[in-house]
Amino acid sequence: MYDITLIPGDGIGPEVIDSAKQVIEATEIDMNWDIVNAGADVYAKKGILVPDEVFKSIERNKMVLKGPITTPIGCGFRSINVLLRKKYDLFANIRPVKKIKGIETPFKNIDLVIFRENTEGLYSGIEVKEQEDEARAIKVITKKASLRIIKEAFEYAQKNNKEKVAVVHKANIMKLADGLFLDCAREVAKSYPHIELQEVIVDNMCMQLVMNPSKYEVIVTTNLYGDILSDLCAGLVGGLGLVPGANIGRDMAIFEAVHGSAPDIAGKNIANPTAVILSGAMMLNYLGENKRSKLIVDAVERTIEEGKYVTVDLGGTASTTEMTKAIIQNL
Ligand code: NAD
Repeated sequence: MYDITLIPGDGIGPEVIDSAKQVIEATEIDMNWDIVNAGADVYAKKGILVPDEVFKSIERNKMVLKGPITTPIGCGFRSINVLLRKKYDLFANIRPVKKIKGIETPFKNIDLVIFRENTEGLYSGIEVKEQEDEARAIKVITKKASLRIIKEAFEYAQKNNKEKVAVVHKANIMKLADGLFLDCAREVAKSYPHIELQEVIVDNMCMQLVMNPSKYEVIVTTNLYGDILSDLCAGLVGGLGLVPGANIGRDMAIFEAVHGSAPDIAGKNIANPTAVILSGAMMLNYLGENKRSKLIVDAVERTIEEGKYVTVDLGGTASTTEMTKAIIQNL
C-alpha cells in the first residue's frame, strides 16, 4: 500500500488528475490517496492559498501527484508550484520528451530528457522596483545547485547508456552566472569521460531543437531556459498535453505534467489526460513499480497509435473521459 498526496490543482487539473487516478487504480495497485488542494479556488473557500493540511500531507507521504495550479500574471500571489519546489528542495525537474507513434508532426526520432535546475536561477523571486520606470530581477546561480543537477543528468545518461549530455547556457552574455553553470558542467563531465558534453547557447539550442532534435539525448540547464525549452520540445512531439514531469529531491518527489491549468479549455472535458497519466507512470517507476509503469506507458501509446479515442489537440474527437476509458481498456 502506498500513501500518496493527490493535489488536483485548478483549471483542467481536477479533470486530468481524475483520469490519472483511474488509470493507476486500474493496474490493481493498492493506493491510499490523500486528497488535498491549494490555489485560488481554495483561497475563495477557505481564505488561505496553501492550507496547512497540504504541507502536512506532503511531509507525511513524501510522494505527490499534482495537477497544475494557476499563478496570476504580473500581480497577485507568487507561484505555489515554485514555492513547493523550493520549500522541499526538489532540485531536479526531469521532463522526458518522446515522439509517440501515431502523432503527425514534421519531427522524427525525438527521445530526449530535460534536466532543469528547479530551485534558483531567475525563479529566485528576487525582484525590485525602485522607481516607477525601473524593475530588476536577480538571477541566482550557485555552484552547489548547479553541480547537483548536472550530476543528476550525467548519472541518468550513464545508467541509460546515453552518449551525450547537452549543457544549455548563455555564458557569452551572462559571463558570471551562466559562466559558473557552464564551468560546473565541464567539471562534472570530467568524471564521465565516455559521455560527450555538448555545449550549446540557448538561442542556438532553440533552432537546433527544431532543425535537428535527434542530435540531443539529455539536456541540462538552468531554471528559466529549462522551462522554455520544455514547452518548445512539447511542441515538437505534438503538444503540451503529452509531456510528463517529475520534481525530485533527496527524499521527496512531486510528479506533475509540464502543462499549466489551461484555463481556455478548463471544465469542457476535452483536455488531453496523457501528460498527467504519464507523470503517474513516472511516479510508479520511482516507487519501484516498473511493470505497472510500463503497462500504463504501453496503454497510452497503443491508444494514441490506434487514434480512435484521442482528444482534440491530437486531431481526434474524444473527450477526456473517453480517452481515459480507452487507455484503461488497453492496459
Ligand atoms: P498552459 O500549459 O496551461 O496552456 C498552454 C496551451 O496549451 C493552451 O492553449 C492550452 O489549452 C494547451 N494545453 C495545455 N495542457 C493541455 C492538455 N492537457 N490538453 C490539451 N491542451 C492543453 O499554459 P498557460 O496558459 O501559459 O498557463 C496557464 C496557467 O497555468 C498560468 O497561471 C500558469 O502560471 C499556470 N502553470 C502552472 C503550472 C504548474 O502548475 N506546474 C505549469 C505551467 C503553467
